Amino acid sequence: MRKRLAAGNWKMNMTPSQAKAFVAEMAESMKDAKNEVLFCVPAIDILPAMEAAAGTNIQIGAENLYFEEKGAYTGEISPLMLMDAGVKYVIIGHSERREYFAETDDTVNKKVLCALAHGLTPIMCCGESLKLREQGVTMDWVRMQVKIGMQGVTAEQAKGMVIAYEPIWAIGTGVVATTEQAEEVCKGIRELIAELYDAETADAIRILYGGSVNGKNCAELFAQENIDGGLVGGASLKPEFVQIANA
Ligand code: PEP
Repeated sequence: MRKRLAAGNWKMNMTPSQAKAFVAEMAESMKDAKNEVLFCVPAIDILPAMEAAAGTNIQIGAENLYFEEKGAYTGEISPLMLMDAGVKYVIIGHSERREYFAETDDTVNKKVLCALAHGLTPIMCCGESLKLREQGVTMDWVRMQVKIGMQGVTAEQAKGMVIAYEPIWAIGTGVVATTEQAEEVCKGIRELIAELYDAETADAIRILYGGSVNGKNCAELFAQENIDGGLVGGASLKPEFVQIANA
């Protein structure tokens, strides 16, 4: 049985004091949440958010990591730093990282391998642009991203991973993929995992949908056989995240 995951992605929002106050405010209303709940937050917010989340069911994760342990990589954050801070989940390869910070499938793969080697759980993102969808190559594109991103990942490691299918045209736009579109691609990803590994691994890995998930549309999306929760941007900064945590 795969436990659903409601994962927030704060992106570049919330100062450390706002982060602390928001997590503390959400803790009470989320205490009986049905789903596993997680906020992935800016690096500087991790410790204050952790402080506010201590003793609650809220987990705090990271939005990125670099694939070296330490050294001359100004501005980056290492897996050792995340582990020491008590982080478990880390988003890797979000489309905004790919678009604005030149991340490629190869760097995503390096980050995924590095996270796994340090005991972190990657939430590896994939998803097509509107143009690719209109050209009819969504599944080819997503399969390529997942295949390259997971190169060198063992079946045991893959079982514990999370993949987030996030169509770029649905992120932050208010245009959510239809339930059928979301389920179709998430199912296709699970089939790919079965091809690359085996049925057991495909059954264990969690696949999230992301892209304009909100308190209203989450229940229908999360009810799909192959959607194990959501990666949520905008709505994770608002009290409506409670509905997503319970969907
Ligand atoms: C995201 O940041 O991954 C995301 C899906 O954003 P939003 O929910 O705002 O579309």
